[in-house]
Amino acid sequence: MMLKEYVRDIQDFPKKGILFKDITPLLASPEATNVCLQKLTEKLKNVKIDKVVGVESRGFFFGTLLAHELQAGFVPVRKAGKLPFTTVSASYELEYGTDTLEIHADAIQKGDKVLVHDDVLATGGTIKAVCELVEALGGEIVQVSFLMELLFLNGGDKIKAYDRFAVMEY
Ligand code: 5GP
Repeated sequence: MMLKEYVRDIQDFPKKGILFKDITPLLASPEATNVCLQKLTEKLKNVKIDKVVGVESRGFFFGTLLAHELQAGFVPVRKAGKLPFTTVSASYELEYGTDTLEIHADAIQKGDKVLVHDDVLATGGTIKAVCELVEALGGEIVQVSFLMELLFLNGGDKIKAYDRFAVMEY
């Protein structure tokens, strides 16, 4: 299956000059979704994962599927102000200004084996902040996975310390 046929390029979204990778055609296909899920879990079949951490909002789609497949718990990381209970937060640089991500303070126990997942690795700022949150709670990151890595943005440099996997590379 040509998985990339299920990813649609959108010119100038959300801002002029950005070529956005739209994964909604992939999500709409049970076959393509299943192929992605198999690839994402292939190397984790005999690895114990306690928690899958998914990043708001597109990291939630496969994050929950992965948690179910791996028989792990699912933990959401959300934008500031969205989570109801006590949170731990991390900020990261954007092109203009900063953004803040949060996780529930009790979502991960010390020593938990964690799979961190998001749909796209671009500059790496988002995922680096997420990894900081997981480690602040004492989680051990087993792998960081994505549907897509945009290689030309070198986001991988920001998360060199971790095992990294992407289903598709551009
Ligand atoms: P980064 O922090 O690595 O620059 O950006 C990654 C975050 O932005 C991810 O949470 C991802 O969902 C979103 N993102 C950046 N570029 C794209 C894109 O082209 N397509 C999609 N679907 N998400 C993107």
